[in-house]
Amino acid sequence: MSNDRKGKFLRVKCLDCDNEQIVFDHAASTVKCIICGKTMVESTGGKSKITAHIAEVVK
Ligand SMILES: [Zn+2]
Repeated sequence: MSNDRKGKFLRVKCLDCDNEQIVFDHAASTVKCIICGKTMVESTGGKSKITAHIAEVVK
């Protein structure tokens, strides 16, 4: 479905410590790895810049 403006949830894997967590791809603020603090999602005001490995798009 083309609901891209509403965003979607992604399962991302931290590039530094392999921690996986669920993030929103239109995050309102920067999301950091809960384990090591590395930035995983950078807020841009629209679709976020994902700076971690995207393991899966959560449906
Ligand atoms: Zn990490």
